[in-house]
Amino acid sequence: MTTESSLRADIVEVGRRMYARGYTASNDGNISVRLGADRLLMTPKSVCKGFMTPDMMCITDLDGRKLQGDRDPSSEMLMHLEVYRQRPDVQAVVHAHPPTATGFAVAGIPLDRPVLAEVLTTLGSIPIAEYATPSTRELPEAVRKYIKAHDGMLLANHGALTVGPDLYGAYYKMETIEHFAKISLVARLLGRENLISREEVMRLQELRGSYGIKAPAPICADDQPAADVCQVVQAPAGDGRRLIPDDIDGAAFPPKSSAGPEDREIRLTYRELSALIEDAIRSLR
Ligand SMILES: [Zn+2]
Repeated sequence: MTTESSLRADIVEVGRRMYARGYTASNDGNISVRLGADRLLMTPKSVCKGFMTPDMMCITDLDGRKLQGDRDPSSEMLMHLEVYRQRPDVQAVVHAHPPTATGFAVAGIPLDRPVLAEVLTTLGSIPIAEYATPSTRELPEAVRKYIKAHDGMLLANHGALTVGPDLYGAYYKMETIEHFAKISLVARLLGRENLISREEVMRLQELRGSYGIKAPAPICADDQPAADVCQVVQAPAGDGRRLIPDDIDGAAFPPKSSAGPEDREIRLTYRELSALIEDAIRSLR
């Protein structure tokens, strides 16, 4: 049984790591853990997560009433309470603003492409919960849609949220999301991602069981894209291949496109476009 004092120390340590890694700035972010069946231990509002001490934490009930602590609980408490209500298996919740993952959340690009085997076996798909005003009742409502089927998600124009069977489990998922976002960004800057085929994605899902990594929901079948009951992964059919090349400019993905070469998108610089128009005008004269 984990004692309250060791959980207080663990929250301090996780906050210190999040701040040291740049996942939070100033007083951003919040952390909570279950303390028995009906109480939560939570970071207080308006403190930097890099400089907390164990005595700063608040204890609340599952309705958010403060039971103990000199400070008020996190301004995002409603989001934490919603997660614990929806996921009895979850023991800890971590929220931060890691910059690369948050960049994807700002761009509206979910981390749902099958690119890294480790991410598929630990998190599966990472969707984006719709934009909601922070610290209002909108945010738990946005999170509710995805939390039953996902252990990690981006929050549109805000940050990321992860959950786990213990505090370090939830924190490591935050690390995985930011690491995955950095790798995805580099691959996209390089102009190409090789996607893991749907068949290989399913094989990796089966491996989760043998690794002892419980998935909150299965990968969605092609005809079942419902983020509240399964995880949407943009995996192309393999046709016997395990990796499918994807040119970011859209030539190869989505693979079902029936567009002929005349309908394909091309990119021109402004200078090239101007030269083409000038050529066309000259030939008309
Ligand atoms: Zn936030």
